[in-house]
Amino acid sequence: MCRARLTWFETGNRFLKSPNTKKTDIDSEAITVVLKRVIAENGRDHVWGYSVAIFCLVVVAASTAMMAFVMRPIVNGAFYERRAEVMWLICLAIFAAFIARGFAGYFQSVILSKIGNDIIARYQRRLYAHLMTLSVGFFSEARSAQIAARVSQNVSGIRDVMNLVITSTARDFLSFVFLLGNMVYQDPLLSLIFFVIAPPVFLALRHISRRLRAVTREAVVLNSRVLGAMQETIQGISIVKAFTMEPELDRKINKLITAAENRQNRIVRISERNGPLIETVAGFAVAGVFAYAAYRSIYENVPPGAVFSFIVSLLLAYDPARRLAKLQTQLERAVVNARMIYELLDMEPRQRDLPEAKALVVTEARIEFRGVHFAYGDDTVLDDVSFVAEGGQTTALVGPSGAGKSTVINLIPRFYDPKAGSIFIDGQDISHITKQSLRQHLAYVSQQPYLFEGSIRDNIRYGRPDATDAEIEEAARLAYAHDFIMAQSQGYDTPVGENGVTLSGGQRQRLSIARALVRNAPILLLDEATSALDTESEAAVQKALDEAMSGRTVVVIAHRLSTVVRAEKIIVMQNGRVVEEGNHETLAEADNGLYARLNNLQRPAVSGNSRK
Ligand code: ADP
Repeated sequence: MCRARLTWFETGNRFLKSPNTKKTDIDSEAITVVLKRVIAENGRDHVWGYSVAIFCLVVVAASTAMMAFVMRPIVNGAFYERRAEVMWLICLAIFAAFIARGFAGYFQSVILSKIGNDIIARYQRRLYAHLMTLSVGFFSEARSAQIAARVSQNVSGIRDVMNLVITSTARDFLSFVFLLGNMVYQDPLLSLIFFVIAPPVFLALRHISRRLRAVTREAVVLNSRVLGAMQETIQGISIVKAFTMEPELDRKINKLITAAENRQNRIVRISERNGPLIETVAGFAVAGVFAYAAYRSIYENVPPGAVFSFIVSLLLAYDPARRLAKLQTQLERAVVNARMIYELLDMEPRQRDLPEAKALVVTEARIEFRGVHFAYGDDTVLDDVSFVAEGGQTTALVGPSGAGKSTVINLIPRFYDPKAGSIFIDGQDISHITKQSLRQHLAYVSQQPYLFEGSIRDNIRYGRPDATDAEIEEAARLAYAHDFIMAQSQGYDTPVGENGVTLSGGQRQRLSIARALVRNAPILLLDEATSALDTESEAAVQKALDEAMSGRTVVVIAHRLSTVVRAEKIIVMQNGRVVEEGNHETLAEADNGLYARLNNLQRPAVSGNSRK
């Protein structure tokens, strides 16, 4: 535990030394691939919505350009030629342009948000459904689990890709082109100035937005490390205090906080850097244009309307230009997120059922391991394991921690498949059986019972969704849970799980036993709890387990001597192999046997495993 905490800080320090900002970079080819896929998957479904939104955006762009355009008749007609009748028309036109812009802006925003929300909801559903099809092995790899957790937030990437593409092309690009067109139309000569100024400004904006992206990414990582550090310190506070780790942790977190603070300051400096730059260039341009207009008006008697229209275009073009300059970095970020979603969605569900897989037919529920080899990675965990768990009997797995007992249990529901050898249930090789039918015949009680969000009744019903309330109550009675359930304020409807009532370890155990009982499956896989239950709880849990075990084929990782003694068969495991097999009497008397030695060490040494 301590080690895990320290590792965290070590990582934090490593990050400080060499910020890894390259990791999520993405080349233009990858952007195109993801872009095409996002558009292909979503464009068609929302073709109408997007069409209306695009129409609205074009209206926004056109009315923006229109405002610049009408400057010329305003200035020339009203101020220069002093024609009142023109004014009315122009004012009306401006009014209309504002109204059109307002409504079009409203509708495009509402439509795009609605489509965006629909995209997010759809991908969340798709992701969740897909995650369920992935094997247990996928989730036990740390990286995959991390991806799975983070990914539901990244769905917004797909929406952002769509919105960015649409708004940037239909609004910003068009506005920019219309305004530019107006500039050239009003004064081709002055437009040359624009073509000189614009590219460097555009490039500067783009550069700044890229720098910003790198620094922002570092800041996000640093901030999450600060939060993580605090959280871990709080969770491990007793260890922190017991080992007097405070000064060391304090020093480390201070370093992180300072780094995060500096990074935030840099973000502000960089993002505000374009302020003075743009103002200087704009000031220069606007002053120059005015000087030029004044000169022409005074000395050449040219009405200044065209120049006004030009200046307004120039000013209005700034916003779309700024957004277009940021487009690439924003698109990259959205694409990185979207790509993560696709990586997960494209992940093949490992261990699909074979095409010819049949449903399991259970008669006696006899389980046989025949020459089973297994490895999670490269290291062999099970080596030629063979044994039989007879139907209707209890088979206890015992042996030191790490011997492979849990792995044996994990192979029966096919959380993993053996690398070699086979497992049979009533003579049927389970690799040729549909996983669904296999698991329907199994019930599982883990060492640490897991309760889901919902009521007590819901939690028991997960054992068999079509169980009636009466069956649930019956199972709860058999599991010695009914009385404490009734003592809760809302009885069976009392909420449990993350936000529910706090139940004791023993009570949670009994609920999970009730869940297994209601399933009424012929095979029970059981990892006995070793956590310190108080004596009363332990007695209740034991009685509940006895109930659950009777008449079933039970494979139990036994931690209690009483379970082992009563088991019809004991499989003693060591280093992934079955080293002894028999019942308590025969094994206890075998000279020099592992079981005899463990037994002599007395309780609870039958199994050295107290983890999980
Ligand atoms: P036991 O239940 O007897 O303590 P396990 O079956 O849990 O033994 O573990 C056997 C070996 O497999 C151990 O060396 C353990 O570290 C390893 N192991 C268990 N689960 C995994 C996993 N998900 N990924 C990689 N190795 C694992």
